[in-house]
Amino acid sequence: MQVGKVFLVGAGPGDPGLLTLKARDILARAEVIVYDRLANPVHLRWARPEAERVYVGKAPGQVALDQDGINQVLVDRGLAGRLVCRLKGGDPYVFGRGGEEALACLAAGVPFEVVPGITSAIGAPSYAGVPVTHRNVATSFAVITGHENPDKAATQVDYARLANGADTLVFLMGIGNLPEIRDQLLAAGRDPATPAAVVQWGTWPRQRSVQGTLADLVEVVRDSGIQPPAVTVVGEVVALKSQLGWFETRPLHGRTVVVTRSRTQASEISEQLTALGAEVLEFPVIRIVPREVGPAVRAALDAGVPYDWVVFTSTNAVELFWRAWWAAGGDARALAAVRCGAVGQATAAALAGCGLRADFVPRSFSAADFAREFPGAGTARVWFPSAAKAADTVPAELRALGATVDVLPLYDTVLDPSDAAPLAERLASGEIDAVTFTSSSTAENFRQLLPDADLGAVCLASIGPKTSATLRQLGLPPTVEAAEATLDGLVAVLQAHFAGD
Ligand code: SAH
Repeated sequence: MQVGKVFLVGAGPGDPGLLTLKARDILARAEVIVYDRLANPVHLRWARPEAERVYVGKAPGQVALDQDGINQVLVDRGLAGRLVCRLKGGDPYVFGRGGEEALACLAAGVPFEVVPGITSAIGAPSYAGVPVTHRNVATSFAVITGHENPDKAATQVDYARLANGADTLVFLMGIGNLPEIRDQLLAAGRDPATPAAVVQWGTWPRQRSVQGTLADLVEVVRDSGIQPPAVTVVGEVVALKSQLGWFETRPLHGRTVVVTRSRTQASEISEQLTALGAEVLEFPVIRIVPREVGPAVRAALDAGVPYDWVVFTSTNAVELFWRAWWAAGGDARALAAVRCGAVGQATAAALAGCGLRADFVPRSFSAADFAREFPGAGTARVWFPSAAKAADTVPAELRALGATVDVLPLYDTVLDPSDAAPLAERLASGEIDAVTFTSSSTAENFRQLLPDADLGAVCLASIGPKTSATLRQLGLPPTVEAAEATLDGLVAVLQAHFAGD
């Protein structure tokens, strides 16, 4: 059997955007993914669905697999001919035991490569507003372990040499040992007034940081309740933190917002909320199940597309239609004589991605407005590829105006209960700050999946009057409602709500 290969891959400190392109490519090719607690699991979205996933995380106080066990997993899979992605938090060679894993591969004759990652030693201070070097302030930095083997009699870190040996000192795994680190640095002559900071969960939406001096940092950290994982930075550069901090000052930083939409449609609002600093939990109350439409699509194509208009009401409809259209041999030219309608800017943008410019985008989402504004009413022949469920409202309005409407039911939407229990738990523990509702059906589905959820302190944000009415009927009166019934409006009202807190 041919031997495989092990890639030791740095996942970066947490922010999904800080994964390298090479890491993403290897994740996408890997047959086996072996990952840690500190490697953000969202990176696994790049993995092939059929890839074997081996979690070897070591939560504090718990032992999952020891280092020999991990080495063995890598070697076994490599010898079995597999392409293995060993995904590690930060950089694999910065206190990641990557060297040991590489040596184990070498000894077993398994080829390996290393993909460096952004280490938390630089990434976490950076997101907290601390550059590890700065002209005229710090010309060197050292990265030091704060946690050594407790069996060792004395520290192996040479504090006498390090204390003043680098301008900026960055300690990893140092929270439990902070008093010892402080004492050693002071004993070795570092100035007690040196600015110092601790950054917990650096680059994650839950990042928190505190600042003090070498002399009082232990107390500052204790009072703040900061826990591992965290990096500790000591040095004059920390004085820049109050000016250069940018991550924790974003408007929704530290807020956890639930977005109730289907997985595919959630991305637009999720991206906006994430960019404002929120931790977004997509609660996919709806899952898309495509229907077989190949024969119907081919028939329309063969008949020369006997329509004046084709109208899309969602990005899902555009995507699924286009897939079927393409498979049937159609392309944008085959729609040249047909005009296109799109409900919502996101739908119009999806259409543009297929090389089709929307001829009509109504001002609002409501079926009545759509029909009122639709320029093709009257005797138009309209093709309506949509969710099976959405097939009655808009078509009914259009038919009332004299149009002929052929519905192409592309997909069904089904409830996805798999995430309900963990969400209920997070709601109960008060971790959720807001839930967004973008339609009556998301409200109904949310209620159905979480009938007993305690939403007392949670901000319920509604996209518009119709959704709000449904929420009230369900006993979930909205806390805020968007002034304009769009995703932008919903994001704006949430932002205003939390700014006023
Ligand atoms: N290879 C990793 C470090 C592994 S050691 C890297 O290059 O970042 C584990 C320690 O890294 C933790 O105890 C903590 O000190 C630090 N760490 C890892 N991720 C972190 C994060 N997002 N924020 C703060 N510290 C982090």
